[in-house]
Amino acid sequence: MISLRLKSECDPSLAPFVVRIANEVSQDASDAQLIMEEPNLLGFQSVCGDFHLHNVAPADVAGDVLLVDPRRQIAHRLIRAASQHNTFLITEQCDQLCVMCSQPPKPHHEDMFAHFLAAARLAPVGARIGLSGGEPLLHKKQLFDFIEESLGDRDDLTFHILTNGQHFEHDDLPWLRAHRSKLLWGIPIYSEIPSVHDDLVGKSGAFDKLSNSLSLMGLAGAAIELRTVVMTQNVAGLAGLADFISRHIPFATTWAIMQMERIGYGRMNWDRCFFDSSADFNELGTAIDLMQARNQDVALYNFPLCTVPPAYRRYAARSISDWKQKYLPACAECQLRSDCTGFFEWYREDSGFTEIRPQ
Ligand code: SF4
Repeated sequence: MISLRLKSECDPSLAPFVVRIANEVSQDASDAQLIMEEPNLLGFQSVCGDFHLHNVAPADVAGDVLLVDPRRQIAHRLIRAASQHNTFLITEQCDQLCVMCSQPPKPHHEDMFAHFLAAARLAPVGARIGLSGGEPLLHKKQLFDFIEESLGDRDDLTFHILTNGQHFEHDDLPWLRAHRSKLLWGIPIYSEIPSVHDDLVGKSGAFDKLSNSLSLMGLAGAAIELRTVVMTQNVAGLAGLADFISRHIPFATTWAIMQMERIGYGRMNWDRCFFDSSADFNELGTAIDLMQARNQDVALYNFPLCTVPPAYRRYAARSISDWKQKYLPACAECQLRSDCTGFFEWYREDSGFTEIRPQ
């Protein structure tokens, strides 16, 4: 697993600051220059303050954008230059309690938008940055302002925003329209039956609110990635959900059918929720066939390739972020490995897929 937090040393009286690790000698005031290298210790100089990083090689952090926190003596890797999987955690607050949630909500919110804005300004050219939570739109005004300012400075950036779709209002239409070419909204829908969706997200009335939000987004021409985690509770309804999406949300950019992540509430509820799609792909196959017949895009996220019948493997994306991705010992000789998403770091073989077969 790639650590997103590095042990750091810095004058503890300094305020937190954002810097980019210079690739080479740089005149950019935002860049930190390497001035000292010892085994397991690097020293950097920056206008915000000097600092050290432990247990990392210069090449591993070159071009990365760090938030150095002198009080905690930690450097957060907000953007890893070599990765396509950079996400800002906007908040840990949420107004839903989803049964499979990988990031269970916390009541406290720490406003990090100023740091995120500084980091976005230093991102590699053309970067797509993920914005997640919790529920980012609980802080909608600050979020919209952050996106607007970021794009004002860097119109090469795009954002992929995960939201539960509970907080859009009619007044948001002009803003959504104005920024639609730069934003992809990842929005979960677990069933077309309101009571089933509401039960899975732990919030009465959530489906109705979601439906209104999706209508607004359709009006705005927003790009939508519908997301459905497949579980024992909703797998039998997948074909019905596919039919619903193709009839009522045909403007969605794609529909991602996802496997569970065994962490957070997902770990707590694993035994009653995990659906072993390696043993039974019938419902998934029917749902995919229906989407394809209606000419709507569909994808499989977090499915190891050998758990998917060959005819459907082309839908399986390498979706697991590199920092939390792993492969099993059995994968070492597999010819599909370079195309396979593998497993989450916290996946456990003894309670996971029954059919893992190197190809
Ligand atoms: S054996 Fe491993 S690498 Fe090969 S398809 Fe299965 S999960 Fe992927």
